[in-house]
Amino acid sequence: MTRRPLQPGATLGVLGGGQLARMWSHAAQSLGYRTAVLDPDPHSPAGLISHLHVQSAYLDPQGLARMAQACQAITTEFENVPAAALAQLQQQLPVSPGPAAVEVAQDRAAEKAHFVRCGVPVAPHRVLADANALADVPDELLPGILKTTRLGYDGKGQIRVHSRAELPGAFAQLQNGNPSVVCILEKRLPLAAECSVVLARGLDGQCVHLPLQMNQHRDGILAVTEVHEQSLPVGTQQHAIDAATQIARELDYVGVLCVEFFLLQDGPEKTALGPLVVNEIAPRPHNSGHHSIDSCDVSQFELQVRCMAGLPLCPPRLHSPCVMLNLLGDLWWRDGTERSPDWAALLALPGVHLHLYGKTEARHGRKMGHVTITAQDIETARHVSAKAAALLGIPA
Ligand code: ADP
Ligand code: MG
Repeated sequence: MTRRPLQPGATLGVLGGGQLARMWSHAAQSLGYRTAVLDPDPHSPAGLISHLHVQSAYLDPQGLARMAQACQAITTEFENVPAAALAQLQQQLPVSPGPAAVEVAQDRAAEKAHFVRCGVPVAPHRVLADANALADVPDELLPGILKTTRLGYDGKGQIRVHSRAELPGAFAQLQNGNPSVVCILEKRLPLAAECSVVLARGLDGQCVHLPLQMNQHRDGILAVTEVHEQSLPVGTQQHAIDAATQIARELDYVGVLCVEFFLLQDGPEKTALGPLVVNEIAPRPHNSGHHSIDSCDVSQFELQVRCMAGLPLCPPRLHSPCVMLNLLGDLWWRDGTERSPDWAALLALPGVHLHLYGKTEARHGRKMGHVTITAQDIETARHVSAKAAALLGIPA
C-alpha cells in the first residue's frame, strides 16, 4: 500500500502525552508538522509543547472525535492505551501502529505466541489463567518470574518466584483480588546481557533500524544504554536485527517498534535456546532509543514521524558512539531535601546532551530526563559518563 506523503503543515496526533510524545512532537515540529496530544493530565510533558492538547480520557468519545477532526494521522506513545481507542480512530484516519499490533504488545501471552509463530526463541513459559493452573506448572519453569500478562512496565507487575511453594502467594499478590488478572510464569534465564533493536517499518514494508543497543536495568527500570559498532559480534547483531524485522513483518507493522532481547550466559539454557532470546516488544519509540537524537543522523522520533506521514525511511547512521543515562526523580533528593542536580557542572563535560521532560514533581523512580554522552570512541564516552554519573549522584 502507498499513500501520498502528508505535507508539512498537516497535524499529526499522539495518544499519550509523556516524554516519548514530547520528543516525538519535537521531531514532528522540526519537520514542519503541527502536533496534537490526547492526555488527561493538564501538565503532560507533550501537552505543554504541542499545538493542540485535548485533555480527556483515552476512551472519551468527544476527545477521540476532536483528535480525528484535528489530525491527519495518529500514533500512540504507550501500549496500554485501549486498543478500542485506536480502532475507533482507524475508521477515520491512518493509525500507526495499528490496533491489532498494539493489542499483541499489550498482552504478554499474545506476544509470546507471536514470537513462537515467528520462530524466534523465547523463555520457556506457561500462561496461568487462574489459581487451579498452578498445580500443573512444570518444575523446569522454576525458579521463574511471574508476570501479569497485561499492564506491566518498568519491572512492575512481576515477582521473582524461587520455588513452587512461593507460587500461590505471588499469584494472589499479582491478582490483588481481581480474578480476571491472568499471569505468565517464565523460567528465569541466566542473562549475560540485555540488548534491544529499534526499527521502523513503513507502509510499503520497507524496514530500517537503529544500531543495536546494550541495556542495563536497575530495579527493573532502564538505567544505562550503550551504543557502538563493536558492542556484540557482527553475526549476533545481525541475528537480533533479523529477528526484530521478522517480528515486525509478521505483525504487518507500520511505525517504530522496539524489540528487547536477552543474551544468555554459557550453560544448558543457551545450548537449548541459542544465545539470543526475545523478551518483549514495545510498539513505539523506546527509552533505549533515546540516544538516537544525539548519536544518529535520524532519530527514532523522526522515524516515527516519517512512518506516519508516509515519507521515505533512510537507514539511520550512528555518527557517534554513546552512553545514555536515565535521570530518575531520586536524583532530585538528597538527605530528604529536594534540590535540582548541578546542570552547569554536567554541561561542562564534553559531548553531554541533556534532555529534561518538563516534569515538575520529582518522584522516586520517575523518569525526569536523560543525558546522552557522545564521543569519538566508546571508551571516551564511558569515561565522561562515569564522571557525569558521579556528579549527578547516580549509583554505580
Ligand atoms: P518490563 O515490561 O517491566 O520491562 P520485562 O519482562 O522486560 O518487563 O522484565 C524486566 C526485566 O526483568 C528484564 O529487563 C530482565 O532484566 C528481567 N527479566 C524479565 N524476564 C526474565 C527472565 N525470563 N529471565 C531473566 N530475567 C528476566
Ligand atoms: Mg522490558
